[in-house]
Amino acid sequence: MTQREILTWDLFGTASRELAQTIADDGYEPDLIMSIARGGLIPAGAISYALGIKNVHVMNVEFYTGVDERLAMPVVLPPVPQPVDLSGATVLVIDDVADTGGTLDLVRTFCEGHVKQTRCAVIYEKPRSIVKCEYVWKRTDLWIDFPWSSQPEIVPDRP
Ligand code: 5GP
Repeated sequence: MTQREILTWDLFGTASRELAQTIADDGYEPDLIMSIARGGLIPAGAISYALGIKNVHVMNVEFYTGVDERLAMPVVLPPVPQPVDLSGATVLVIDDVADTGGTLDLVRTFCEGHVKQTRCAVIYEKPRSIVKCEYVWKRTDLWIDFPWSSQPEIVPDRP
């Protein structure tokens, strides 16, 4: 079997706390968090609590259909967030992993058109990523098993 990077729930607790600490130590105090669904939702929730940031938003981007299987390009699923006046805002975009970086690039570019400053935080970054994130917990080039998506989905038991 091909080697994989395994993130357990326990290790995720450590990773999200350490990543939040790195952001705080850097002095970055974002006005809002933009999480990328679905993989970035749980990291963003943990980091938002760790940093005391209540202003959390979501963009839903679809790209991967399986292990290393992708659509031709990442697609933003509706509804697309409608920016109010965020021209003075600083944003932290959070995802689980920057792999090709295509997803983060899409969201970062979207945010940059509307806000003052955008930085990115991920638990993992792969060497091929076109986005070099400001905050990374760990670098790897392996496929990662995340605790929220590595188990089979629960199928309703219908009669
Ligand atoms: P990217 O656009 O950087 O290629 O990938 C973005 C999304 O694809 C990630 O947020 C994640 O949901 C999924 N993805 C990419 N690489 C991996 C991986 O190694 N493991 C898992 N479980 N998902 C991945």
